Amino acid sequence: MFQRQKVWVPDPEHGFIMGCIVDLGLDECTVQAFDRSRKPFVCGLDRVYPAEEDENKEVDDNCGLMYLNEATLLHNIKLRYSKDKIYTYVANILIAVNPYTELKGLYSSETIKKYKGKSLGTMPPHVFAIADKAFRDMRVLKQSQSIIVSGESGAGKTESTKYLLRYMCDHWGSSAGPIEQKILDANPVLEAFGNAKTTRNNNSSRFGKFIEVHFDSKHQVVGGFISHYLLEKSRICMQGPEERNYHVFYQLCAGAPEKLRQQLQLTKPDDFHYLKNGCTQYFVSSNSKLNSSQLSKAHQAKGGLRDPMLDDCNDFVEMDKALTRLGLQEQEKFSIYSTVAAVLHLGNISFEENPEDTKGGCRVCASSEKALNLAAGLIGADKEELRQALISKVMQTSRGGLKGTVIMVPLKVYEANNARDALAKALYSRLFDYIVGRINRSIPFKTSSHYIGVLDIAGFEYFTVNSFEQFCINYCNEKLQQFFNQRILKEEQTLYEKEGLNVKKIEFVDNQDCIDLIESRGSGIFSLLDEESKLPKSSGAHFTTEVHSRLGGHFRLALPRASKLRDHREVRDDEGFLVRHFAGAVCYHTSQFIEKNNDALHASLEGLVQESQNPFIQVLFSNASQQKGKLTFISVGSKFKTQLEELMEKLRSTGTNFIRCIKPNIRMVDHQFEGGSILSQLQCSGMTSVLELMQQGFPSRAPFSELYNMYKNYLPPKLARLDARMFCKALFQALGLNENDFRFGLTKVFFRPGKFAEFDEIMKSD
Ligand code: ATP
Ligand code: MG
Repeated sequence: MFQRQKVWVPDPEHGFIMGCIVDLGLDECTVQAFDRSRKPFVCGLDRVYPAEEDENKEVDDNCGLMYLNEATLLHNIKLRYSKDKIYTYVANILIAVNPYTELKGLYSSETIKKYKGKSLGTMPPHVFAIADKAFRDMRVLKQSQSIIVSGESGAGKTESTKYLLRYMCDHWGSSAGPIEQKILDANPVLEAFGNAKTTRNNNSSRFGKFIEVHFDSKHQVVGGFISHYLLEKSRICMQGPEERNYHVFYQLCAGAPEKLRQQLQLTKPDDFHYLKNGCTQYFVSSNSKLNSSQLSKAHQAKGGLRDPMLDDCNDFVEMDKALTRLGLQEQEKFSIYSTVAAVLHLGNISFEENPEDTKGGCRVCASSEKALNLAAGLIGADKEELRQALISKVMQTSRGGLKGTVIMVPLKVYEANNARDALAKALYSRLFDYIVGRINRSIPFKTSSHYIGVLDIAGFEYFTVNSFEQFCINYCNEKLQQFFNQRILKEEQTLYEKEGLNVKKIEFVDNQDCIDLIESRGSGIFSLLDEESKLPKSSGAHFTTEVHSRLGGHFRLALPRASKLRDHREVRDDEGFLVRHFAGAVCYHTSQFIEKNNDALHASLEGLVQESQNPFIQVLFSNASQQKGKLTFISVGSKFKTQLEELMEKLRSTGTNFIRCIKPNIRMVDHQFEGGSILSQLQCSGMTSVLELMQQGFPSRAPFSELYNMYKNYLPPKLARLDARMFCKALFQALGLNENDFRFGLTKVFFRPGKFAEFDEIMKSD
């Protein structure tokens, strides 16, 4: 870099701001921002990036820039976003910025047709282009493909996934065929049961999914298969302020036919304890009338994006229709809705201390008798048995290693609350498993040649307080990040080979050590957690101390003392641990790790659901074999680890495509670009490290034809008569450029970092 050069310098609010170097030191420089209201300031050279000469030039693929770095990447995305061009490539990776508004024609059938069969790069960047690439690669390479969609909450993963599926499903016929329609119908059902309003996203997916669309040898859709991961269970009983429970609860209350609502004794959401902890905003049944102030209030509550009342009502109808098209009969749908209602009535059972019990036991409050009765009826249990199962637990005494007698231990009020919530969570999460399984049964396939899988899973997360859920999702993102690096690297190298470039091997920082820290058998954090969970008196504090004493000294692990939570509370050493992830350090609060890692119900409750008179409930709990009186432990972490390993195995065996979704602002509004947060998303999604990785090779590239058009007027007409490739060769030779700075491929010239700009400089000064 040199004096007066136009550069980008870091800025917390905008990500980067533009200025020029006024004084250059050894490893620092002084920069004057173009915004003259700012005083000149000193900045480390390693954080200063050269800017493109023409700051208004935007390109479809960032690799077409003369300088490829995180600042020019951010600027290019910003320029494009301001013109409603929400998609941009970095080589084959698609960056998608959520427009938070409908962009006319962007996803129309005409647009779909335009992308059919076109190579990546021939049309403007688009999710459809990625879908088409996956399809063509599947056909040509005879290999299954996957599309990994990632990004933070509200970035647009689920919407992108829907567009991808739509492209794959109505691509080959004039409209979706019966199987294709069923695959598309899975979505409103999954969203009803697995999505909820959160403060980050009004329709936030609270689970991860991998949807496979299977094709036969003629490349026709033959069926599909959905895998799901980590449904957020805490939400079933409790939501944060301004958040909601899963949509289906409100949909049933608002949109179910009167008869069904009566049968299930469903009234307004405010009547249910599990629905009023968070946001009380709602809904109302289609035949009720709201006055305008109620309407506008509810409207605002949902971020002003859509009308929540109409939504819950209409969404119920849509979801119900989708279930029917998926092949569910009235009886089966009724069973599903009954289970949802059972959860709500269970939530209305409260407990109080029982003055007659000398051991501090509790009883069901008199005002909850009705709820107890309804819940028992819907679960198919005897009311008295349900009562007993909630206020006491069965335990087996053991003496001298021998199995002793079974005794009933009365529960305290808080323990009974926990038991009730555990039952509600088990019912709902098993219902969710059932629904996904049921969808899969309705889109079966006998023979499949290949599939295209779309992964829609939460990106790296760090909140004020991070618990087990964040730990699992960040672990998953470490694995995906490693895979991403390996694949992108391989792709770069394949491209160099294809273009006939002789480039030395590129290295990258591997995060295997972090993955090991978490998943190593016997010594990783998951193993220590399982070990702790099996102890008779397990505790979060003991687990945390074990983590520090057994893994202390690991480069990726630290005491929380080293950090403060984002709300500036100190965390004690036995309250948590800090992990240095690829995307930044996260301090995990361990107080609920043990509870959240255990999927087992206590024995009395397990017995109750297994002996249910309701065949549907029996099916939900059929795979849990448990002996009465024996507390078991079912590890959530181990299950996730296994599922993730299966997923990684699938991803490794497919060709991969990546879509990085970006949330432009936290207010969820259109045309608002918050540079600072977007830059941090690019960093968390590994995009900036991709740039670093590419810097080792030849990151900027320009097709011969492009160079020809750019420079033909600067040269004698004789030279301009050559074909584009010859023209470039002659040009580079004449300029006597250093061979190490560029390479000629078959279709493009590849430049070392920054060399494209130097070349441009020479051309224009000559
Ligand atoms: P989460 O992790 O919380 O599930 P997500 O990444 O799946 O978040 P989406 O639900 O896909 O986010 O998107 C959030 C909202 O943003 C959508 O409900 C929609 O209003 C808007 N949105 C996303 N993508 C688009 C798009 N391409 N065009 C218009 N609006 C969009
Ligand atoms: Mg989503």
